[in-house]
Amino acid sequence: MNAPAVGLTGGASPLDTRLQRELDSFRAADLYRVRRIVEGTHGVALTVDGRACISFCSNDYLGLASDPRVAAAAQRTLGSSGTGSGAAALVSGYNREHAQLEEELADYTGRARALLFTSGWAANLGTLRALFGKADALLCDELNHASLIDGARLAGARYIRVPHADTGGFTAALADAQAQGGEVGIVSDSVFSMDGDEADVPVLAALARQHGATLVIDDAHGLGVTDGGAMALADVYIATLGKSLGAAGAFVAGSEALIEFLIQRARTWVFSTAPPPAIAAAARAALRIIRSEPEHPLRLQANITRFRRGIEALGSGLPFRLSPSTTPIQPLIVGPAGPAVALSRALLARGYWVAAIRPPTVPAGTSRLRVTLSAAHTDAQIDGLVAALADASADAA
Ligand SMILES: *Cc1c(COP(=O)(O)O)cnc(C)c1O
Repeated sequence: MNAPAVGLTGGASPLDTRLQRELDSFRAADLYRVRRIVEGTHGVALTVDGRACISFCSNDYLGLASDPRVAAAAQRTLGSSGTGSGAAALVSGYNREHAQLEEELADYTGRARALLFTSGWAANLGTLRALFGKADALLCDELNHASLIDGARLAGARYIRVPHADTGGFTAALADAQAQGGEVGIVSDSVFSMDGDEADVPVLAALARQHGATLVIDDAHGLGVTDGGAMALADVYIATLGKSLGAAGAFVAGSEALIEFLIQRARTWVFSTAPPPAIAAAARAALRIIRSEPEHPLRLQANITRFRRGIEALGSGLPFRLSPSTTPIQPLIVGPAGPAVALSRALLARGYWVAAIRPPTVPAGTSRLRVTLSAAHTDAQIDGLVAALADASADAA
């Protein structure tokens, strides 16, 4: 006879006991995470946990997630094509909207083909696993996004961790990797998601070419915002549609052979339901706006400059340090997790929402307020955040 089930009706199960112990330790270390509920659109002025505030933590850098033209395109396609695609693209889930979006993304990136994935996470896992295997080596910047790290590990290739943005480190690692044989991939974010600094893509591309390696660049935070050269130079160009395009999903762009190979072999693509056609329609509308209205990235750049000047003008003695970033990701490094969370709370009480980012998302001792700017922020909103930071810092001192 089977043993009777224990713990289902009364008392904590061994699983729950173990998890509760870990949860308690997260809380004790100021590393416990909770969600906040947004009502309505996820724009710059929003309602969070029932309270109106100005958000400085979204990756919707151009304000397209709440652009009525993008929503209208999705609505039209919801009307004509319904909600779900019903199957993977290879079965019956491939809609005319998906095909057109792929063509437009290929055209925009200047590559032969593009392939639509359900998320950037899925694109990175599926692509790295399809292109590399046990005999190969992947040279990865140590601050790469979690999905690139997991993708490289899933591929089963030798994982070579390269110091952050260290082109000399890549050069040395390339020589070592080649000596051992197999394919070599260079894998990097273009804009690093938690620091806002940029990889030197032209140098990485030159290294890849010299050594016959493959350059894989994740341009999640660059697409539509900054052109660091990834579109033209990466052998495998990956970007998401959920950030500056205000939609959802992701794509890989590259050669005819690359895309045809991924269609045969990228498991997160082959075995996953295609995105809703309406989401593809939203991304197409956003892409049209990006291509025809260059004023948004210009406005964003002006906002970045205004924010940096504002923080610099506050002078010294602040409980945070401004990072040397020129992108919309402008982290304020606090250090320990507790004070970073306290500062984030103090800002929210003043009507400004900036998330505190803590380990394991960032290295221990570098907890930060990850300020992100949008083209949709007004001068007054940016000045307001700077004033609130000064005010909250004075309280914390
Ligand atoms: C957000 C992000 C991803 C994941 O993309 P999703 O579409 O959100 O799954 C991948 N890479 C980087 C660098 C990111 O910032």
